[in-house]
Amino acid sequence: MNNKKTLPSAFDSVPFGSIFSEHMFVMKWHTDRGWHDAKIQPHQPLQMDPGCINLHYGPSIFEGMKAFRTVGDKHIALFRPREHLTRFNRSARRMCMPEIDVLFVLQKLKELILIDQEWVPASPGTALYIRPTMMAVEKTLNLKVANEFLFFIVLSPVGALYKEGFNPTSIMVSTQYTRASVGGVGDVKTAGNYAACMLAQEEAKAQGFSQVLWLDPLERAYVEEVGAMNIFFVINNELITPPLHGTILPGITRQSIINLAHQRELPITERRISINEVVQRIDDGSLTEMFGTGTAAIVAPVGKLLYKNTIHTIHNNTTGPVAQQFLKALQDIQQGHAADTNGWLDYIT
Ligand SMILES: *Cc1c(COP(=O)(O)O)cnc(C)c1O
Repeated sequence: MNNKKTLPSAFDSVPFGSIFSEHMFVMKWHTDRGWHDAKIQPHQPLQMDPGCINLHYGPSIFEGMKAFRTVGDKHIALFRPREHLTRFNRSARRMCMPEIDVLFVLQKLKELILIDQEWVPASPGTALYIRPTMMAVEKTLNLKVANEFLFFIVLSPVGALYKEGFNPTSIMVSTQYTRASVGGVGDVKTAGNYAACMLAQEEAKAQGFSQVLWLDPLERAYVEEVGAMNIFFVINNELITPPLHGTILPGITRQSIINLAHQRELPITERRISINEVVQRIDDGSLTEMFGTGTAAIVAPVGKLLYKNTIHTIHNNTTGPVAQQFLKALQDIQQGHAADTNGWLDYIT
């Protein structure tokens, strides 16, 4: 069988997550044996029994990170991979799944990317998206912690970000649904979280909004996240983001922006911020920017916000300077235009 896939002539216009590279990394875990059978193999369908735990009860976790081809020398670098794999282990602990050896998996990931290096796109704004995943594959309908797990990494080249310009999106505040619960799993990347968000997302789309703004689950008063991204506000030239208190995913992009803000001596505060304060400050002009942050979009500005039947427009529905500054700063580091003074890049070649 010939597994060689045809490389697209250009990756620039590939929709996010729609194509995969030629190979994947897999390893298995059994309570009696620990991790075993680690190997790089052609990207291929998985075999699992329809009675396996993951398909019924959902013990499944993942990460999302990126590799970039840096300008000039065209070397390939991973962005903060240790932080991503460490967060993967946090997710594993919360979901009663075995932890991975971060350094071993990082080494295997580098080998995998080297094998599939033609799949790392080079043009500005493109990247190789990396998806480590683990699921419980023991064959039983008994609701219990599994004794068999499958870990894999697949690679997906993604097209250029913001091809049509770095334009704001419109979002709808959900007063009906919440993303996470207190004491729940909103602060880890487990599959079911994303399935549970789809109905709210569809309802926002049906009303012409591209994302959901999530409020806290107890009072529906405080802003938590936007879509599957962390959120930042600029109020009177101060950067504000909600603190991590258990229902917010601790984003690595969020942390990187906080670090950059400190280094640039931009005032940054982690504090709770109510939706009432947000709309009031949009309307009185003191809130000048609002943007989401995450690995996929890096920075995603918000131009319009629907809350209780009123649309509030931010910065004339145009992208503000702070969002632009952080998108540029992160892309410059990731693509090798700026010095990596924080040591966030891990070079493969
Ligand atoms: C992954 C994720 C983020 C962003 O995390 P990054 O590490 O910046 O990619 C934010 N919120 C949710 C719910 C997420 O799943």
